[in-house]
Amino acid sequence: MIRGLSAPEILSIWEVAQHQHPVKLALTILNMVLPELSSDELLHLSIGQRDAYLLAVREKTFGSRLASYAECPHCHERLEFSFDVADIQVQGTADGEQQHVEQLASVEGYELRFRLPNSLDLAAIAHCRELAIAHTQLLQRCIEQIERDSVAVPLEDVPEVVISGLAECMTHCDPLAEVLFNLSCPACKQEWSVLFDIVSFLWTEISVQAKRLLLEVHTLARAYGWCEAEILSLSVTRRQFYLEMVT
Ligand SMILES: [Zn+2]
Repeated sequence: MIRGLSAPEILSIWEVAQHQHPVKLALTILNMVLPELSSDELLHLSIGQRDAYLLAVREKTFGSRLASYAECPHCHERLEFSFDVADIQVQGTADGEQQHVEQLASVEGYELRFRLPNSLDLAAIAHCRELAIAHTQLLQRCIEQIERDSVAVPLEDVPEVVISGLAECMTHCDPLAEVLFNLSCPACKQEWSVLFDIVSFLWTEISVQAKRLLLEVHTLARAYGWCEAEILSLSVTRRQFYLEMVT
């Protein structure tokens, strides 16, 4: 059962994760709220499972309503949209059960044995500048065996249609690994979809909240002489009350 982040935890994540790669940042956050999982277990969570946990952290910390914006690719109109965690949360993805299970797919007569991409895979391709190369490397890491008529086939001999069929299958097995929103521009009626990235979304919120907390500490410490730990241990209600008294 996941819990939300406390004020000291938000500050501590913000402090240590300033220059972390998003793959590492996601683990820093989960390490904090899931002490029962080892770092190794966290690394091996499928990306969809990792993101399901992050969504749960977000919900418990900042609430279930998420607001975002996108720019229309056609007329550049700024479009604001909001959604609920429940709209993207898929039943059973946060139970941590299928993470090590090998997956099987049958595409166009090819039998493929694979596992779902995890944080180690994302870290391994993080240095890749070209999307196509990153994509191939990711598949190479995740495909364990390809056979046709019980004969092993190397990845480079597999037709493109089979590879895209496999990519679809991976998305189906781990739906939260890629959350897309279909948007429609009210100004020019252009329709397009945007990728929702919980890691960067949550990081932005943590950064904003951390700076707000530090400002509150500054204000209250100056007025009352309390130390940082004392101020952060106050409930939100009490802290707000004192802030109203001094500002
Ligand atoms: Zn438009």
